[in-house]
Amino acid sequence: MSDPEVFDVAIVGAGPAGLAAGLYTSRDRYSTLILEKNGLPGGQIMLTEHIENYPGWESVGGPELVQHMVNQVHSFGTSIRTGQPVTALRRRDDGVLEIEIEGGSSVYRSRAIILSPGSDYRQLGVPGETQMRQAGKVSYCATCDGAFYRDKHVLAVGGGNTAVQDAIFLATRFAKKTTLIHRRRQFRAQKILIEELYEKAGENNIEIKLPYVVERIVGDGEKATLDHVEIKNVETGDVESLHVDGVFIFVGMVPNTAFLKGFVATNELGYLECDTTALRTSVPGVFAAGDCRAAAPMQLATACGDGVTVAMMLKEYFRDPNWWAAGAAEAAGERGW
Ligand SMILES: Cc1cc2nc3c(=O)[nH]c(=O)nc-3n(C[C@H](O)[C@H](O)[C@H](O)COP(=O)(O)OP(=O)(O)OC[C@H]3O[C@@H](n4cnc5c(N)ncnc54)[C@H](O)[C@@H]3O)c2cc1C
Repeated sequence: MSDPEVFDVAIVGAGPAGLAAGLYTSRDRYSTLILEKNGLPGGQIMLTEHIENYPGWESVGGPELVQHMVNQVHSFGTSIRTGQPVTALRRRDDGVLEIEIEGGSSVYRSRAIILSPGSDYRQLGVPGETQMRQAGKVSYCATCDGAFYRDKHVLAVGGGNTAVQDAIFLATRFAKKTTLIHRRRQFRAQKILIEELYEKAGENNIEIKLPYVVERIVGDGEKATLDHVEIKNVETGDVESLHVDGVFIFVGMVPNTAFLKGFVATNELGYLECDTTALRTSVPGVFAAGDCRAAAPMQLATACGDGVTVAMMLKEYFRDPNWWAAGAAEAAGERGW
């Protein structure tokens, strides 16, 4: 169904960033439409049962927290439309923004857009990964889940900066043993991090195995807990079983921004470029919030913080559209557009 009405704000993605933005814009009495491609709102946080680092909640499950967020947003009149994958955006000459759903099946219009489509963790795609992720034994975020592995043995996978940094983090803060594997003989991380890794390895019980890949993550069936992980030496082909309590996969993230190509500026990895103060993208009236933007800290609380920031900045834009141009000049200096 297309809406002939022009909303004040359309928000693309009903994750924490989009929901936080919608809460603020609807409380400010701006007509707000949130478009979500999935059947349910909530984003990535729906995939976890244990959150311990969202201020105000000592421990909360993702779906429970999302339900509260959704209720709060609805209570101020915002409409969340699920099953609405945004596939293209346009800015008309009169400044109105058009949002196309799946090949033009619907078109919505708004005066401003907040882009909050998030990112997905890159997966290994090995047998058992999805099942053990659902069982909470495979994680992609050390900050989120490291604390669940106090005095346990964890396997970390990856060779870039995040992998090396987070393996050190797990080993020095929580785990009694950390095994780090990477598919190449050399890590891709910065030299300084690799030096730190080797310096800290002995004292913090970090075992480094190169060049190894994960073959299978094996649960113990009935209890849906992790039994062991099969890893393979890519040079010799030898396979060994590691009995670990959890697996941390650090092989990168993929921003959900392919549909925005050619409309807004992105960096070489596809993250949305924006100025760091007001989160303005390269297109007037279009803001970025949450894990989709360049240099995002990729946390629930920071995604919400971004949502709040853009909702506040939106008021500046509505008050005086020239504010954007001034900001764009500043951002161009900052980002080199
Ligand atoms: C398993 C797991 C556990 C985590 N645990 C923690 C934790 O304990 N603490 C913490 O701080 N963080 C945690 N995180 C990270 C946290 O979930 C993210 O940082 C946060 O969800 C980012 O919010 P976001 O709104 O930017 O994006 P997302 O949560 O990714 O939401 C984006 C939404 O946009 C939708 N979307 C994408 N493309 C389109 C499109 N084209 N059209 C319409 N909709 C679209 C998506 O379907 C999604 O619903 C965890 C993440 C995962 C995966």
